[in-house]
Amino acid sequence: MGFEKFGRKSFTAMTKTAKFVDFLAEGKINGTVCKKCGTKYFPPRADCANCFSNEMDWFEMPKKGRLETFTTAMYAPFGFEADPPYTMGVVDFGNGLKLFARLAKDIKPEDVKVGMDVTVRTLKYDDGQLSFEIAKA
Ligand SMILES: [Zn+2]
Repeated sequence: MGFEKFGRKSFTAMTKTAKFVDFLAEGKINGTVCKKCGTKYFPPRADCANCFSNEMDWFEMPKKGRLETFTTAMYAPFGFEADPPYTMGVVDFGNGLKLFARLAKDIKPEDVKVGMDVTVRTLKYDDGQLSFEIAKA
């Protein structure tokens, strides 16, 4: 599967980390980990920014973390004009591992709090595009 299956609008089909989308299709949210120095990356990277190795492996992201910050978009960029308002956030899993995503629509904006326990899950849109989102723990 190519990277064009990722997200609501995918602006690139070619990437060295396209296998990320195959994992999403399997219900897994995976990052990459450097085989040489052990640094973990999300979003996945094909090359290590710490030791410059290109020997990377995949690992499954933790399911649970804490919401570090969030914001609600009232306007959207090209390709997402019909979506606002929507809330995006950063999940902190500890050890420097973080994930940025939208919050699931079933989380009411007034219920979103910094520090709340959350989980992450894969998402398939009606048109078959794949992504991931932050959900209630
Ligand atoms: Zn490394």
